[in-house]
Amino acid sequence: MPRPDLGPKPHLGYTESRIERAAELRMNGNAVAMLAALPTARVYVIGGEMIVMKASGGVNDPLFTFNEAADLGGSAEIVFLGTLERAGRWGFGITPQTAETLKARQDLLVTDLRSIAVQGLVEQDHLPPIAEAKAVLNWHLRHRFCPNCGAPTQVTQCGWRRDCAQCKTQHFPRTDPVVIMLASDGERCLLGRSPRFVPSMWSCLAGFVEPGEAIEDAVRRETREEAGIVTGRVRYFASQPWPFPMSLMIGCHAQALTQEITVDREELEDARWFDRDEIVAMLTRRHAGGLTTPPPVAIAHHIIRAWVDGESGFD
Ligand SMILES: [Zn+2]
Repeated sequence: MPRPDLGPKPHLGYTESRIERAAELRMNGNAVAMLAALPTARVYVIGGEMIVMKASGGVNDPLFTFNEAADLGGSAEIVFLGTLERAGRWGFGITPQTAETLKARQDLLVTDLRSIAVQGLVEQDHLPPIAEAKAVLNWHLRHRFCPNCGAPTQVTQCGWRRDCAQCKTQHFPRTDPVVIMLASDGERCLLGRSPRFVPSMWSCLAGFVEPGEAIEDAVRRETREEAGIVTGRVRYFASQPWPFPMSLMIGCHAQALTQEITVDREELEDARWFDRDEIVAMLTRRHAGGLTTPPPVAIAHHIIRAWVDGESGFD
């Protein structure tokens, strides 16, 4: 059967960063201070879930000088993100309360990263460094005290480590792996609906990888737990940083071995099989019932589309 032509593949949000992280500079405070003193130095200003931008009506500017950022008030941590064509870039943390008060200013736009990504409120190249900054700054917000002994911790390594002076433990920013997968049995694939979704949207199943668990085993466990479907082979597809607050989405396709669905109503509102024609209608926003898949900024869109394109390896 010929494959439908879905057009050029869209960009996957938060990936393909143009920033050179320059991790070797993190232990060289003087070199980073020199970069910060250059007129090309710029920061992204982030308060918890909120990103601060200079408002311009259409595509907004998320870059501030250090002085501009400091004038916004309520600063927290600063993290060195790396360099872009030798210009330094930083994440500049402000308190979530300060970000809330900045919403009143006409010259600024303060909103969450999901809205920015989906609505294209900044140039696409800004999304990966904002994701990087947001994830690290969120980690700082939650790790002021040593999990080992309870003493306050101090920021080192240009924002990439917190050290405990009391028990000498070094703490590093963490990333939480999440599997997100599409099980298929040839002509049909399995989608679910979270109660948090907008009413028309269906997506891949997903769940956190547990300690001591392989990615493939997490895919099989989550698919069985949430929808009662047993899966066999699992194939890695692609990954996506998901800074909400600091996850890594690991996209997979899985071979469904059973057909009968049992929905875990604690996790999902519903789950069902979709045939290829219905999925194509959803991807192209031409579904008769108005059903949709997630937008192209999310990896779920790409996983589902790859199955339609015959790239899952299981049909
Ligand atoms: Zn400690």
